[in-house]
Amino acid sequence: MAPDPNPVPKGKERPPSTIEELDVLWLTAGLSCDGDSVSITAASEPSIEDVILGAIPGLPKVRLHNAVLSYEVGDDFMKAFHKGARGELENFVLVVEGSIPNEKLSGDGYWAAIGTDAATGEPIKTTEWIDRLAPKALAVIGAGTCAAYGGIHAMKGNPTGCMGLQDYLGAEWKSKAGLPIVNVPGCPVQPDNFMETFLYLLRQLAGLAPMIPVDGHGRPRWLFGPTVHEGCDRGAYYEEADFAQEYGSRKCLVKIGCWGPVVQCNVPKRGWIAGLGGCPNVGGICIGCTMPGFPDKFMPFMDEPPGARISSVLVKPYGVLIRNLRKITNHTLNKEPKWRNREPTYTTGYEPDRPNKTHPL
Ligand code: SF4
Ligand code: SF4
Repeated sequence: MAPDPNPVPKGKERPPSTIEELDVLWLTAGLSCDGDSVSITAASEPSIEDVILGAIPGLPKVRLHNAVLSYEVGDDFMKAFHKGARGELENFVLVVEGSIPNEKLSGDGYWAAIGTDAATGEPIKTTEWIDRLAPKALAVIGAGTCAAYGGIHAMKGNPTGCMGLQDYLGAEWKSKAGLPIVNVPGCPVQPDNFMETFLYLLRQLAGLAPMIPVDGHGRPRWLFGPTVHEGCDRGAYYEEADFAQEYGSRKCLVKIGCWGPVVQCNVPKRGWIAGLGGCPNVGGICIGCTMPGFPDKFMPFMDEPPGARISSVLVKPYGVLIRNLRKITNHTLNKEPKWRNREPTYTTGYEPDRPNKTHPL
């Protein structure tokens, strides 16, 4: 065999990828505010530009089709979706943003649609797009709580009867590549949470990572395992039963509406953008926006969560005692040792005649 005229320098080999190119069909036409599409533009680990420009070696080349971020408009923008529906896209990932309406309730009209059917001239419903695309997608991702679980649009009293992906496709649904629905909840989704999950899936589809670990609600376990409270830097105030009575306080917010102890989310730990911002860590009560029960089970948001009344009462005797004991220790730690002085003789315990003697503290 003839030697390769352009050998790859040692150490620069590209890891083997089973997929060279991939389209991302991002359906923003659920019942949504496009907040998740906007949110991901703030990501940096990785940024969306990193992924599209191929800054990460070994991953498929990504073509993103998102109405909020796309250069193409109108029918040009819809071409990739029609190709995907016709089975002409070899590899694509379907991302759904927004709640999925129950079109059985929309009568002769429709709740949500994008694009037009060339044969009938009628708008193509969002549900129709999901029906056409999901069976052909390598993976289906719910971006944000609305797509994942229904979210704010699906609250009690809504007229659309809307729902999340697992309600629509079924909790046991699997893609043709064998992946379950992957949900990245959040209202909106935390930028790096989405991009990190997307990166994981790209690595998996490229044959570089094992099956994505998700819980029974489709959430990546490494992001949504711990609770808000477990990552909140106000936890010490909670432990010492030192609770804020009003907004603007630096103390624990549980008595003014924080649901952090029972909500799975990493935002206070991770920050919002580049480690900055968040929710309870910076003074905003956690309203449970990542949870399947959001928002109804958390309202009215600014009332004390019922469970917090019990736990904050129980923690009080221990917390107050510990806080006072710590104050005493803190007081002693704020004093320098007495041997730091200007006396003409040693008071440090050092003995000039026996300089190697060690002194216990
Ligand atoms: S502010 Fe909320 S999340 Fe933070 S320690 Fe208090 S209850 Fe927990
Ligand atoms: S901390 Fe609470 S309110 Fe903030 S993003 Fe997480 S779940 Fe939503």
